[in-house]
Amino acid sequence: MSPVSDAESSMHAAMRALPAVEELLQNHTLRAYERKVGRGVVLDAVRAALDAARADIRAGGGAPMPALLLDAITERIEQSIRPTLTRVINATGVILHTNLGRAPLSQDALQAIHDAATSYSNLEYDLDAGERGSRYIHARELLKKLTGAQAALVVNNNAAAVMFILRAFAQQREVIVSRGQLVEIGGGFRVPDVLSESGARMVEVGTTNRTRVADFENAVSEKTALLLRVHPSNFRVVGFTEEVTLAEMSALARKHNLLLADDLGSGALLETSAFGLAHEPMPQESLSAGADLVAFSGDKLLGGPQCGIIIGKAELVARLEKHPLARALRVDKLTLAALQATLLHYLKNEAAQKIPVWQMISANADALGKRAAPWAERWNKSGLAAQVIDTFSTIGGGSLPGETLPTRAVSLAVASPDALVAQLRANEPPIVARIENQRVVIDPRTVLPHDEGALLEGIERVWRMGPRA
Ligand SMILES: *Cc1c(COP(=O)(O)O)cnc(C)c1O
Repeated sequence: MSPVSDAESSMHAAMRALPAVEELLQNHTLRAYERKVGRGVVLDAVRAALDAARADIRAGGGAPMPALLLDAITERIEQSIRPTLTRVINATGVILHTNLGRAPLSQDALQAIHDAATSYSNLEYDLDAGERGSRYIHARELLKKLTGAQAALVVNNNAAAVMFILRAFAQQREVIVSRGQLVEIGGGFRVPDVLSESGARMVEVGTTNRTRVADFENAVSEKTALLLRVHPSNFRVVGFTEEVTLAEMSALARKHNLLLADDLGSGALLETSAFGLAHEPMPQESLSAGADLVAFSGDKLLGGPQCGIIIGKAELVARLEKHPLARALRVDKLTLAALQATLLHYLKNEAAQKIPVWQMISANADALGKRAAPWAERWNKSGLAAQVIDTFSTIGGGSLPGETLPTRAVSLAVASPDALVAQLRANEPPIVARIENQRVVIDPRTVLPHDEGALLEGIERVWRMGPRA
């Protein structure tokens, strides 16, 4: 017999040695699972495990031992009933990490979500009059007080807010925007695409690095509905640059009877320069510069839940509220509950103390070093080469590009930093860390106090397990 057919016949033997689906379903462990999670889940796991075993055999392996096959099946069942959305420890030092859910909420916001979720609420019920009310009032008055706006409306997110404004006020008409502001925010939010989806026609003016008032002026026609300013929130153009100010755009808009809308992106309600950062545009500044409508996110520097906030002229916001799209873009009660609690922190002048995003921004290197030192000490005792280093955290989330905050973090020297960060991601709860100069860096700035214990144990557990194949 040739070696090839030898291998082939042992492969066939291994295939035949695999138990049949029906036979596996009789196993008492799997029958117990079937009672718990239903036949469909068990059947899927059995089939998937058998498929994997067959693939192994085709790749030259033998048939798995029955106990191992059973383990593989139960692991698949367990995995399929585990939630896929779980808590993650953010040790990256990136405060508004878009992939990690952006802003964590304050305790008050959480409590508000809890109360609104587990009870009935006056979401759309006027308790004074005993009749139907509006869900929008819960954020409107606070936003008016905080920004000085005549009116405010909250929708699903800022992308929706911008789309909504363009749709409602510029559909089938022209919107003029500077070429220097045709940004992509990430996750596919591209200003030109949003414009074309809204049904407005985009008229680009100026160049990537320089746009002047005259460029806008020359592009105005009877088809123009709106001038759009987009805050280039996640990149910076340096060198030979010029952008038209909002005030200049406003003067032009008045002159030609056009609307002026400002997509601010983050929209900080606290002055970022007070925290050693560059100045991030504030919504109230846009209004005083003459913007008719301003849109910004709820879960960037505001530090609240995902939503899009539109503030501006009462008559314009009223038109948005009556627009059919308002219903499609409306926020749910949990979002409104969290937003209201978050906005109240600003009103009560306690935002920097109570909102996690601002707590993280305002933590100084000394305070962070005091948190990092005992971590390094403990991990050293476990045999890791841990050291407190001076490095930098970033804001992230398309806010304040290039701006950093000095931090003190723990650096872990290991043979393979890539392997360690991968193992940390596989921990429960997953730990996301960054690599800097061939070291794994754990930045305390974004590690929430209630995650500290799990972080300390997680790093030790992963280290004890040693490198995986
Ligand atoms: C982030 C951002 C958006 C999108 O906001 P979401 O709340 O993520 O929908 C739109 N425009 C700008 C300028 C942004 O920075």
